[in-house]
Amino acid sequence: MTIDCHTHIASARVIPAPFVKGIGDNIYANAVATQENIKAENINMLLSRLMSFDEDCELLLAEMDKAGIEKSVLLIVDFSITFPDVAEDLETLYALHKRILDRYPGRFEVFAGIDPRRKTGGLELFEKSVRDWGFKGLKLYPPCGYSPSDERLYPYYEICAAYDIPVLLHTGPTSPSMSFAFSAPELINDAAHQFPTVNFILAHAAFMMHEQAAILAEYRPNIYLDVSGFTNALRMERFETILSEHKKRGIIHKILFGTDWPIHKLSGSQQTLVELFRNAAGNILNESEMKLVMGENFNRLLKM
Ligand SMILES: [Zn+2]
Repeated sequence: MTIDCHTHIASARVIPAPFVKGIGDNIYANAVATQENIKAENINMLLSRLMSFDEDCELLLAEMDKAGIEKSVLLIVDFSITFPDVAEDLETLYALHKRILDRYPGRFEVFAGIDPRRKTGGLELFEKSVRDWGFKGLKLYPPCGYSPSDERLYPYYEICAAYDIPVLLHTGPTSPSMSFAFSAPELINDAAHQFPTVNFILAHAAFMMHEQAAILAEYRPNIYLDVSGFTNALRMERFETILSEHKKRGIIHKILFGTDWPIHKLSGSQQTLVELFRNAAGNILNESEMKLVMGENFNRLLKM
């Protein structure tokens, strides 16, 4: 069984253009000194094509089948305050995801996104999405400009506690078109302390700022880490060292497989990402630990 706990619909309505452009600008800045003929606009064109070609999730589903991924979690980010000129209306975005959920029963879960600085309607919309539409979690993107322990989020966490659903939040650096001010793992500490019955998944944090994140996962029962973005650790040849540290800490039961489709599409297909992960992790994890990471931890978390 393989469950991908971290994906997004590849659509410009879900991943807005300024977000993609920031990533492209950084790739350009890192390559321009050593690569001749590289052009910022070509990189940006390629990236925006990679991230906006599959609004119906047909290609994602085909890739899941090839990779042996039974289920993927689609995460919604509320970019409406950060990129007000281009961000899709949040209700429309929720409806787009509900359509995918209904169209491919059993293949997807959806986590609803919210920006707690939203003036009206956010709480009602979030609760409706959980109660009536079967959304299974809350997705937060603190680099939009708020801490995950911002008290304006507490009413949302009350709903998560009432419906027994987790919160998945971005951790670490992101597109340079956003602030990195709220990216540190320990920012979740107050909320995780105040809401001990709500489980918090630090996205990317099994390999990004992993030391601080792992300490939280080791000492707080309600902190989990996802592995999306692990190809960075592979590239830096630190993957096995980090994973074996997690194993020594005894937190393999807190780690969730995820790919962040389509963000890491340049690193390969879903099948390639699953194989890369399984091959490298296979040197550290035994068979039952591998099963935990690849899906059992997620199912336990969502009580499936
Ligand atoms: Zn993501």
